Amino acid sequence: MYCEDCKKEVSVIKNEIDKYGKTLTYFSCRHIFAQTNIPDQGKAHELAGIKKKGQKRFSKKYKFYSEVIFGEKFGKDGNLVFINRITDRANDFYKEVVQQGENILRDVEEKLSEHFSRHK
Ligand SMILES: [Zn+2]
Repeated sequence: MYCEDCKKEVSVIKNEIDKYGKTLTYFSCRHIFAQTNIPDQGKAHELAGIKKKGQKRFSKKYKFYSEVIFGEKFGKDGNLVFINRITDRANDFYKEVVQQGENILRDVEEKLSEHFSRHK
């Protein structure tokens, strides 16, 4: 595995799935990579729950360096949208792509600090 924070190849000590359904990958450099897969379509409530919990933990005690949310949910209009969101605390990076079929509804890439200051 490649650690984005250390910028080098590291080995994986273990993988585990936490109670929120996040896949946690423990690297030998002690970084933890968290990835959330939304397994079923239309679990908007669960997605919102993950987001809420994730933001709550986005404090000095926040334990994930980077987080990826990847999956589908129902948008405001009731249609299914595909979401790929990367929150990278170590590199102050935020990217979100929201897609509906061939249409890209949202494609944002910005500094995480700017993202949070604009979306309070
Ligand atoms: Zn690392």
